[in-house]
Amino acid sequence: MALKLYNTYSKKEEVFAPHDPKLVTMYTCGPTVYGRPHIGNYSSFLMADLLRRFLEVSGYHVKHVKNITDVGHLLKDQDDGEDKVEKQAREEKTDPLAIAKKYEAMYLEDEKALNMLEPAHRPRATENVPEMLVIIRELLEKGNAYETSDGVYFSVTSFPQYGALSGNTVENLNAGARVEIKEEKKHPADFALWKKCVGANAHHLLRWNFATGKISKSEGEDATSGFPGWHIECSAMSRKFLGEKIDLHTGGEDNIFPHHECEIAQSECSGQKPFVKLWLHKRRIDLGETKMSKSLGNVLTVPDIVSMGYSPLDLRYYLLSVHYRTQLKFTKKGLDDAHKARRKILEWMEEGGDIDNAVGKVGKESKVSTVSTVGDWEKKFRDAMESDLNTPAALAVVFDCMTWSRSASLSSQEKAGIQVFQSVVRKTFGCFEAEEQSIPNDVQSLLAERKNARAAKNFAASDRLRDQIKALGYEVRDEGGEQTVRRL
Ligand SMILES: [Zn+2]
Repeated sequence: MALKLYNTYSKKEEVFAPHDPKLVTMYTCGPTVYGRPHIGNYSSFLMADLLRRFLEVSGYHVKHVKNITDVGHLLKDQDDGEDKVEKQAREEKTDPLAIAKKYEAMYLEDEKALNMLEPAHRPRATENVPEMLVIIRELLEKGNAYETSDGVYFSVTSFPQYGALSGNTVENLNAGARVEIKEEKKHPADFALWKKCVGANAHHLLRWNFATGKISKSEGEDATSGFPGWHIECSAMSRKFLGEKIDLHTGGEDNIFPHHECEIAQSECSGQKPFVKLWLHKRRIDLGETKMSKSLGNVLTVPDIVSMGYSPLDLRYYLLSVHYRTQLKFTKKGLDDAHKARRKILEWMEEGGDIDNAVGKVGKESKVSTVSTVGDWEKKFRDAMESDLNTPAALAVVFDCMTWSRSASLSSQEKAGIQVFQSVVRKTFGCFEAEEQSIPNDVQSLLAERKNARAAKNFAASDRLRDQIKALGYEVRDEGGEQTVRRL
């Protein structure tokens, strides 16, 4: 079987075939650093991480670029309105770069906790403005862009394929007439490549000289200085680090329009076509029945999940256990189920080469006998993943294999095969790493007390202490004369 992925552009599953059979180029739209990203943002980054991991497990080398937007992303993803980073800077009474730095650090901390692989590059928009200006000039020269008194705009009517990704064609946008017509814009759907520091943007703090691309120190009205539009950032950074044609581009479904539609227009008019071979988008997640959104104020962050008593890897498992094109309704129960399921798989993996000990625990009543050799489990797992990253099916294979390996009498060769399979699962999902546990002090002192009780053969006290420890959320086991503890 070959890897098939659903391409948002063609609206069908396609066999993935990179330009270079050994090297996959992949661009992921990263966060706008004006607040701590919420778990909905991470669900999209996790999809990209899973895809990359599976490509690597499948033998590809992946060059992954994930940008950081620290300027130019305006409220509601529109051309007018405040810059999200600058607005936050005003609220926190500091400067925009301090805001960007602060929230970038939180984002990196969360990504680490979620065990995401480090991309090859994490370019910041503010550090790549000259590259954006190169594309803007190309578009002006080719007649795909024009200048107005407040900026430079892309002319959507100059690119007949505009709307192919999202369905928001020029015709449809005209019919909807939802975009306010601005006097100088040729078409209401034309979007900003560059905003000048005039009018509503006269007080924009981060600014660059349009002619030189250098940081501008001017203040107030200055038509010679400005800042880039959000969409041009990704066209410039993907070209700089991955070239004009890339294999994979990922993002959240909210990015489809206008962001990715505009990226295609800019990149294909200034460079080669097609800009991207395959577009992958993660469906959004809801908090229960409501859309999770920072503007609605109902978001959960990674630290929120930790303060609820869960590991960030439980969250990782939860978000990846649902297919990426399914809209997940996030619930506490779902997170709890994910925690338990992950723990079961972890325990199985920790049994390691000592599967002998586990045989018989499940009993011989297992119904799972359709797969007779160890290699078949890995094939089934890979087949599920190759079918548009069908993670629920892949995890079902893991659970079936677990039941089988515990109920069958395995040869040493089969046991080794199981370990190879487990390592494929671990590398693909990234959520079965052994975690360092920090055991709270009260649990530690109860453990010490219990150790003494057991040494004194006071089993009544030992059992009572076990219950007390359990009430605090930890389970004690006696293995090889030692007591071990794990979080429930
Ligand atoms: Zn982007």
